Amino acid sequence: MYSIAIDGPAGAGKSTIAKTIAKKLEFIYVDTGAMYRAMALYFIRHQIDPSDENAINQACPDIHVSIAYENGIQQVLLNGENVNGQIRTEEVGNMASKTSAYKMVRATLLDLQRNLAKTSNILMDGRDIGTNVLPNADLKIYLTASSKVRAKRRYDELVEKGVKADFDQIEQDIIVRDHQDMEREIAPLKKAEDAVLVDSSDMTIEEVVNTVIDAFEKVK
Ligand code: C5P
Repeated sequence: MYSIAIDGPAGAGKSTIAKTIAKKLEFIYVDTGAMYRAMALYFIRHQIDPSDENAINQACPDIHVSIAYENGIQQVLLNGENVNGQIRTEEVGNMASKTSAYKMVRATLLDLQRNLAKTSNILMDGRDIGTNVLPNADLKIYLTASSKVRAKRRYDELVEKGVKADFDQIEQDIIVRDHQDMEREIAPLKKAEDAVLVDSSDMTIEEVVNTVIDAFEKVK
């Protein structure tokens, strides 16, 4: 069984790259951010204050996250309900970034993530996969890009969808999210010592994909 871990900050292109590589290698793609987003959706729906750790801890035992695949696309289930269509908003992303700092929230998802790697060849993306979830992954990639480039990609994506976007605001949100993810005490975002650093600022998607596949060919 092979496992590839891809970590990095918001907007570095992890999911685009991971999906493409998983398809090429015929690996299962596991998006762990979607799991934190599903938990965040629960907290929003139940009007739980993200700064109230006690309230978060009390809610955790009532939250069951699982995943399923439909036509090869990961679906996240929150207490049995498919919430894939509801987790991609800025509101949910910001809530996830705050609440994922808590020990109980992370513990709720850890077994699910580790067990997935026991059953198939997987490519898992997130923030702490190489450092914490799968410390023995066959290949670890730390994918990053400058905050300007990441904000520009997000901006273009929104404009393409016809959504009004403010570039400076987007960059500011990215900087705040980086800070929250990198400075938290538990499982902070950082490059694992044995991870391959890939800075995609000046690379095309194809170049990044080829870099990762070449690195995998060397270790497999
Ligand atoms: O990657 P995505 O933006 O969907 O992740 C949402 C949030 O979930 C991140 O900002 C991060 O705080 C959290 N997360 C995490 N650990 C992971 C994946 C995501 O803390 N492995």
